[in-house]
Amino acid sequence: MNEQTHINSQKNFETGDIILKQGDKGDVAYIIEEGEIEVLLEGADGTSQLVAKRGPGTIIGEMAIIDDQSRIATVRATQPCKMLEISRKDFARRLNSADPVLQMITKVILTRYRDTLARVGVLGESPTYPPPEMMEREAVGHENAVHKIKTANDFKQAMEQEQLQLHYQPILSFKTKKVVGFEALMRWPQEDGSMISPAVFIPVAEESGLIIDASKWALKEACLTLKRLERDLAAAGQQPESPLFMSVNFSALDFAEENFTDTLYDTLSTTDIKPQQIRLEITESLLMQDPEQAKNTLNMCKQAGLKISIDDFGTGYSSLSYLHSFPIDTIKIDRSFVCRMVDEANSKALVNSLIALATSLNMATVAEGVENEAEAELLTNMGCDMVQGFFYCKPMDETRLSEWLKQQ
Ligand code: C2E
Ligand code: CA
Ligand code: CA
Repeated sequence: MNEQTHINSQKNFETGDIILKQGDKGDVAYIIEEGEIEVLLEGADGTSQLVAKRGPGTIIGEMAIIDDQSRIATVRATQPCKMLEISRKDFARRLNSADPVLQMITKVILTRYRDTLARVGVLGESPTYPPPEMMEREAVGHENAVHKIKTANDFKQAMEQEQLQLHYQPILSFKTKKVVGFEALMRWPQEDGSMISPAVFIPVAEESGLIIDASKWALKEACLTLKRLERDLAAAGQQPESPLFMSVNFSALDFAEENFTDTLYDTLSTTDIKPQQIRLEITESLLMQDPEQAKNTLNMCKQAGLKISIDDFGTGYSSLSYLHSFPIDTIKIDRSFVCRMVDEANSKALVNSLIALATSLNMATVAEGVENEAEAELLTNMGCDMVQGFFYCKPMDETRLSEWLKQQ
């Protein structure tokens, strides 16, 4: 489905139609293109009071799509109307990808406006109405927001100052015990030499929308590294049997970008990397957020020759048979199953059947987070194709990786 279809769909209303109903939950706002409407406040006694009339170029229903509260008034068409619909889902996507300060201010303005309406009696007077400061803190989750805004601003600055790094963890074939590819993992070094974990900054980058630029950077950097590694290995006379691949992690926001695939193809061509060498790592939850859109994007990627991996497999709620409707090449079995496998018969049976089912569906399997020989042996016997874990190698920067590869 094209993004545009659910962003700006057109709606027509006849004279007298109720467009929004006071008290209802609101999933859409409308921009009036043609026609005229009236805004009515309905009293508990059945009376209704005209509070405004609006015409072309104005917007109605915008409050509910920001904070998901009920409609405060009824809107009725007084002429035939042509409207452009803005869905709450689309608005949330735009707001969530906006600067965190912008997000906070938007929500605060709305909270204060609702508070004012309540105080002047428009929303029904209530003597126990909470003070606006309290509502605002609740609305924006004050402390949390401040922390997130700080982290997001620092992250943005780190990106601008080119401080982000990628580390690479080798992925090996179980059969040959040789390196077949790598996973690129983002690192944010601090002034004191420590690293902030991606488990901390990736969610902030996702919420603030900064992940989109970070992912673009990561893809390009990973491609450039892969190219340099190939050259190094060739110069050392150690060309691999088949081209090495690079796995890059992507988030739902990346997939929601209209020009996601164009940027991807551009990067591949400017860095001279074959599409077959790049694996997009995405989670089940990304697929479930907007399955139709994900399927379209993945189909385009697949047609261009890219490979698709499902990350952290088993931690989501989808079944492999459902996932089969997406063009998936590889599933990565989550570390939480791998690490319990040796001691727990249930986890072992689960991993075993996952591998068997994936294999029968022509998907390759990667075991994540393998830390010891016992796990590696079990997985080999189960027919797992590839492995990634501290037992073989920790993620490392390009320089160390290049040295490590030459010693293999
Ligand atoms: P992930 O995609 O599941 O990446 C694998 C994580 O497992 C990495 O953690 C890796 O260092 C760790 N790992 C690998 N082998 C072992 C092992 O044997 N034992 C243990 N205990 N851990 C192992 P890392 O680098 O801290 O990344 C955490 C998560 O952050 C990633 O999980 C991924 O979800 C996210 N992330 C990292 N880089 C990126 C990125 O560039 N973009 C996006 N969207 N997410 C990223
Ligand atoms: Ca991953
Ligand atoms: Ca994973």
